[in-house]
Amino acid sequence: MTTIYLDNNATTQVAPEVLEAMLPYLRDLYGNPSSMHSFGGQVGRRLRLAREQVAALIGAHPEEIVFTSCGTESDNTAIRSALATYPGKRHLVTTRVEHPAIHALVAHLAQEGYRVTEIPVDGEGRLNLEHYARSLTPDTAVVSAMWANNETGVIFPVEEMAMMARHKGILFHTDAVQAVGKIPIDMRQSAMDMLSLSGHKLHAPKGVGALYVRKGTKFSPFLIGGHQEKGRRGGTENVASLIGLGEASELAAKNLEKENTAVKNLRDKLENALLSLIPNSRVNGDRQDRLPNTSNISFEYVEGEAILLRLNEFGICASSGSACTSGSLQPSHVLRAMGVPFTMAHGSIRFSLSIYNTEPEINFVIEKFPPIIEELRTLSPYWEVGQEVCATRDFGGV
Ligand code: PLP
Repeated sequence: MTTIYLDNNATTQVAPEVLEAMLPYLRDLYGNPSSMHSFGGQVGRRLRLAREQVAALIGAHPEEIVFTSCGTESDNTAIRSALATYPGKRHLVTTRVEHPAIHALVAHLAQEGYRVTEIPVDGEGRLNLEHYARSLTPDTAVVSAMWANNETGVIFPVEEMAMMARHKGILFHTDAVQAVGKIPIDMRQSAMDMLSLSGHKLHAPKGVGALYVRKGTKFSPFLIGGHQEKGRRGGTENVASLIGLGEASELAAKNLEKENTAVKNLRDKLENALLSLIPNSRVNGDRQDRLPNTSNISFEYVEGEAILLRLNEFGICASSGSACTSGSLQPSHVLRAMGVPFTMAHGSIRFSLSIYNTEPEINFVIEKFPPIIEELRTLSPYWEVGQEVCATRDFGGV
């Protein structure tokens, strides 16, 4: 059975060109990039090129890129650095819908005694900017807001938010793990101070990431050790995978237009077909300000995990908006923050596409998906009761 992979916000396949670029550094060129000898020196030079490639993708200077082990490390480094460099400030601002790399970190920091403000979102997943403006105080050390949401793809107005923070002398960090490679990013035109990205979301291997730190931003390392990364992150670099990240960044820049035309068209085709073929379904999140590859759709009165199991039988990979935690199915914190009704949140599926998806794959999903929902609904004790209620409800034409 062939795999139809529509779970690219979870992780992506390593691009063949990326693997090719990495192989020599796993096989023969195993020198330490910090060594004095030329065997290591050639590796150091190739790593410099990788840094330039990553910087070019986001319009940064190579010296502004600190290589890390993942998006989570980049996020933790950014926040911890801001707090360490402004020790007198005890307040952080973030949003209710961050990835756990930020969400769980700020919960931890709250336990350490920091004051945390989480900006709410509306039913479309859009931020309340007035609430945000009010939350910035002289005691605020840092704002951390994701560029694009991993579950819904909703894009936040991070540039506007960064300007507002800058006017008040507050550092601004963005978790751009889902945005990099999918939408244009130019840090030369930006007021943001720090940006996190992760290799495995843009066709590089897992276990590498980067933190952009604007020149002149005060910085305190998270991993203390050797002099690597100009003393900003100790530890011998994951050379081959970082070379992969560099190559993937160059590819992403080339494929950006395809991502916003071909990938978006396939996403829209899938989304529109499912909405029209399946009653009581609706998109979660703003359909305009959204990543081109992501569609999060709720199918009322079915469980997301049951849908995933049935999809799996056809080799179709997607994600659900509920996670099985300690035996109970809890809708995700993102859908709860958006106020998605329980019966909708439970049956939410996230499709996330990539440049490797094809039209025949999407046609196959459009053919297989509606009967799955129909069958699961006949098994649902709530479906018949719910339908009577639903008949009076407005699903916005979908
Ligand atoms: N931030 C966002 C928005 C993500 O989607 C993810 C991964 O899913 C991360 C951070 C964490 O990245 P990593 O898996 O590289 O630690």
